[in-house]
Amino acid sequence: MEQRLANLVPRWDEPLAVSGVPYGYIHTPDDSIPGLFPLGDQAAVIPSFAGDGIAIALHTASLATRVHASGGDSKTYQRMAYKDLTPPVRNAELLASVLAHRLGRKAAFICARQWPVLLRTMILRTRVGHH
Ligand SMILES: Cc1cc2nc3c(=O)[nH]c(=O)nc-3n(C[C@H](O)[C@H](O)[C@H](O)COP(=O)(O)OP(=O)(O)OC[C@H]3O[C@@H](n4cnc5c(N)ncnc54)[C@H](O)[C@@H]3O)c2cc1C
Repeated sequence: MEQRLANLVPRWDEPLAVSGVPYGYIHTPDDSIPGLFPLGDQAAVIPSFAGDGIAIALHTASLATRVHASGGDSKTYQRMAYKDLTPPVRNAELLASVLAHRLGRKAAFICARQWPVLLRTMILRTRVGHH
């Protein structure tokens, strides 16, 4: 491996990394700016393991379009988005905090083996539009 890497030229001075992702952020309707429809990560940032960030982007885009097309304002959209996004994001945060600990992971695996239906239920509870 060392030999193979020896002749390679780094493309960047430092490794590229993603950091400071605001997991658990949910844009509240109280912060609403008239005429502004925050979509995707600007509406909510779900913990990565849930894998639902793209679905949130599509869901909020679709919701904002429907509200706007039917004459609704951005506050109406933000209230609806907040209602849809809060349960999956909060559930994913809770699961992430359990799975971050060795004992939590162990307990989760035991429960998933014992009651497989729990796995499906928990996954669905981290999905926008499935709670
Ligand atoms: C490493 C990583 C892995 C991920 N894996 C998954 C996954 O497996 N499944 C999943 O569902 N989600 C995943 N996500 C989350 C998902 O990528 C995001 O939730 C989703 O892309 C959010 O969509 P968005 O349109 O809000 O933002 P983005 O996709 O980030 O799009 C925003 C765009 O706006 C552009 N932009 C920003 N500022 C400006 C400006 N001032 N002017 C013009 N353009 C601007 C940016 O360049 C970007 O192209 C992952 C995220 C990361 C970081």
